[in-house]
Amino acid sequence: MHIPEQLVIRPPSEAKSLLVRVVRGCHWNRCNFCGIYDLFGVPHSQRSLQEVLLDIDALSQRYGDIFSTAFLGDADPLNLDAGFLVAVLQHLRKTFPRLKRVTAYGRASSLAKKSLEELTAIREAGLDRVHVGLESGSDRVLKLQRKGTSHLQLVDAGKKAVAAGMELSYYFLLGLGGRELWEEHVSESAKVFNEVKPHFIRVRRLFIHPMSRLSEKVGSGEFREQTPEGTVIELRRLIAGLDAEGVTFACDHANNYLPVFGRLNAEKGRMLDIIDSFLALPERQRIAHYESIPSVI
Ligand code: SF4
Repeated sequence: MHIPEQLVIRPPSEAKSLLVRVVRGCHWNRCNFCGIYDLFGVPHSQRSLQEVLLDIDALSQRYGDIFSTAFLGDADPLNLDAGFLVAVLQHLRKTFPRLKRVTAYGRASSLAKKSLEELTAIREAGLDRVHVGLESGSDRVLKLQRKGTSHLQLVDAGKKAVAAGMELSYYFLLGLGGRELWEEHVSESAKVFNEVKPHFIRVRRLFIHPMSRLSEKVGSGEFREQTPEGTVIELRRLIAGLDAEGVTFACDHANNYLPVFGRLNAEKGRMLDIIDSFLALPERQRIAHYESIPSVI
């Protein structure tokens, strides 16, 4: 009997999704703050089309057609050949006809390498949404963290994904510029969001895993970690700098200090009020709150 492979991680919004592994690990695997696949001992390797199709068949036998959403992993399926992805998506949609949404992680550099025609073919085959780790819109922060992309590429790749008809989720990482670059980190990211207007801006707080390369930089003094209050101020500055009509803003991860959600631009004022009310609390209450929030990947 064929046993389908399992993913290492998925976005929180895919908690109820059918999970399909189309590639193992991350082909880039260089971001200083990450190391997730090293942590789980998963080196990058390609899967054959035959293996992936057999997984889909086995998942169908195991669960039946009960899912309304599906997620393709691991790190960057958008880096795969367009024809491969189209074949996987067509088989997935045929095998699970009740799927209403199929999504995947994708690096901006992978979206940039694909033509608009290729991205459109992938979307037409059934990929509705791509989750992209923007992390920062600042070139200096992106370089410091070895993200392998740039402000310009994040704008161009994001616009291309939207033009291909895909929903775009951009992930922003509070604290990634440390104490030195935080203002540029926030302002340059807001510029990308305002220009691209992704469907979603999803916020996470930097968690420095002791095994990550970034942890070594903290130890050597090369990177000065943002304070908890500093990340809340970053969040406020980011929202204040946004002018992105129709975008959904979501701090939808357990490690955020403030679960701020809203639709831009209408709910910008309400989101800022939530942060201001928190910052107006007595210091001991704010510190107690910071200490109560888990630091998790
Ligand atoms: S953050 Fe994403 S692209 Fe960077 S190493 Fe981790 S999985 Fe790969």
